[in-house]
Amino acid sequence: MTDTTPIPPHLPPAPPGSARHGRARRLGDHGWQEKAVCRTAPEATRDRELFFPDADDDQRVAAAKALCARCPVQQLCLQTALETGSRDGIWGGTTPEERADLHHLTQHRLETDRVHAALAGRDIHLTHLERRALVHLAAQHRLGPDRLAYLLKVSEPHAERLLRAAHRQHRQRRHNTVTTSTGRPAHRPELGWAA
Ligand code: SF4
Repeated sequence: MTDTTPIPPHLPPAPPGSARHGRARRLGDHGWQEKAVCRTAPEATRDRELFFPDADDDQRVAAAKALCARCPVQQLCLQTALETGSRDGIWGGTTPEERADLHHLTQHRLETDRVHAALAGRDIHLTHLERRALVHLAAQHRLGPDRLAYLLKVSEPHAERLLRAAHRQHRQRRHNTVTTSTGRPAHRPELGWAA
């Protein structure tokens, strides 16, 4: 499985040959990072630990948050940290401890628009539920395993297994729908999977 650990905006570009070099393109829409205040602010470039303070380092936490407060991409930064489950460092003006509860809420997000955008090829960090929905949409749209592997950033054999399972569930659901006495399908047609 592909490493999906997020790359914080406040890290300098990775040198060629390093483990994280070339990863950013695959990890979501990162154009916003060009505008990150922590990339260029002298305070951040002078002190590389500024955005990775110890929990009790109030001075660094306050200094980092002050930079976030005037950052034009603060919301996107926070959203990325939540979507990717980043537990390290300051993101979007929040410490890891402050994000803990928000992480839990984000894990259960399921937004149809985001799933469809990902299906269309947009590079989005999907939640676990959204990834499942994408698999079922891919099965409905008869996408090949190679395309699904690209969209989910997984191996092709794994994508093939996911598609097979989705097809199996669709067949089962059709069967259940025909035989149900209520006549109401127990699934969400727009996403094609059981809610
Ligand atoms: S919100 Fe803070 S951590 Fe995020 S990009 Fe801006 S300055 Fe950097």
